[in-house]
Amino acid sequence: MSTGVEQVKTSAQLFERASALIPGGVNSPVRAFHSVGGTPRFMVKGEGTYLWDADGNRYVDLVSSWGPMILGHAHPKVVEAVREAAINGLSFGTPTAGEVELAEEIVNRVRPVEQVRLVNSGTEATMSAIRLARGYTGRSKIIKFAGCYHGHVDALLAEAGSGVATLGLPTTPGVTGAQANDTIVLPYNDVDAVRAAFEKHGDTIAAVITEAAAGNMGAIAPINGFNEGLRSLTAQYGALLIIDEVMTGFRVSSSGWFGLEGVAGDLYTFGKVMSGGLPAAAFGGSTEIMSRLAPQGPVYQAGTLSGNPVAVAAGLTTLQNADAAVYEKLDANAHRLGGLFTDALTEKSVPHRVQYAGNLVSVFFTEDLVTNYDAAKKADTWRFPAFFHALLQRGVYAPPSAFEAWFVNAALDDEAFNVIADALPHAAAAAAEAVK
Ligand code: PLP
Repeated sequence: MSTGVEQVKTSAQLFERASALIPGGVNSPVRAFHSVGGTPRFMVKGEGTYLWDADGNRYVDLVSSWGPMILGHAHPKVVEAVREAAINGLSFGTPTAGEVELAEEIVNRVRPVEQVRLVNSGTEATMSAIRLARGYTGRSKIIKFAGCYHGHVDALLAEAGSGVATLGLPTTPGVTGAQANDTIVLPYNDVDAVRAAFEKHGDTIAAVITEAAAGNMGAIAPINGFNEGLRSLTAQYGALLIIDEVMTGFRVSSSGWFGLEGVAGDLYTFGKVMSGGLPAAAFGGSTEIMSRLAPQGPVYQAGTLSGNPVAVAAGLTTLQNADAAVYEKLDANAHRLGGLFTDALTEKSVPHRVQYAGNLVSVFFTEDLVTNYDAAKKADTWRFPAFFHALLQRGVYAPPSAFEAWFVNAALDDEAFNVIADALPHAAAAAAEAVK
């Protein structure tokens, strides 16, 4: 077996070519290793819990394509379903039976969702849910939370998490004042701030959008009563509650965060796991709200490739194979990983806190409980690049940002955990020695 210790010449050459042709050399910013430095690895193969790069190095994958690959890479049943679908044609631009089955699978798992519309990405799902909420309520303003990321939707980029946090951007040029003015950004986990915003702007607020549990500023679970508070305030003021389960949906339980907490939203957004790793996502809610969408209602939303048969086959087969044993494994793997973080970092006296949101796991370099974006930013994030690279060199592929959750998959086994356990003491030492 080769590990990441070896050279990365081919990745480096590919990155040089890519950088001339693709902005920053990547098609999504966090992939560029901007906040950790070094050469992004160009992957050529994934199987089970491992990835292989173009230089022949093998990595235990703790990113899982940023969430979708809960069964591990190239799961034989998913690959077979994709192959069968592809043989029958790649896209028809007509309805297909698979779309109905996937819609049924989602609706059966998440009780407040009676109807879904399939789209191509989580960004499209949240963008469409916001439009529908505005169309339904006839109002314009949206409340979002600092550090939450809902895709690169104009109105939702203010103080966003994920890559926006990684690159330290407060917001982004290209978003107009009007779009920004309709977005009220509040601290996560602060119901009083939400109440105050409703008292001031109540009759103009169309929706509150929140990650079901925050995963884009690291894993930060909602504190007790936060999501319930959002539920009752939105209901009181006639606004909709949009629960973004793109990251948590069908990952943290068979019915996502809803299955763990039971707080019902008006609209839901899904992606990642239900896509099986191909471009697919969805938004859904009650029939009453969803029927406002075209062609039944006046709120327009459409997509040439929406419900693509190959993507639907991948998503449906992934969900059908995500049984109770898979969810048990995901939970156990997340806690096993978190335990290894704690052991290694404690041994090297690195101040840290391992946090979970279901089976999303993160390590923050601080001893304080992290409940919002300000607290996440106050941690010693400067330790992260050294921690990350020490893992990478020893064959462990971690998210290349201090502000991302780590995504375990059900294929992680003892052999993979041994690789992680061997690498972590070196990573903890590197984090201990890091200088600000
Ligand atoms: N919502 C959440 C909670 C996400 O984590 C993401 C992506 O990470 C999105 C929306 C956007 O999804 P996509 O990258 O598929 O556009």
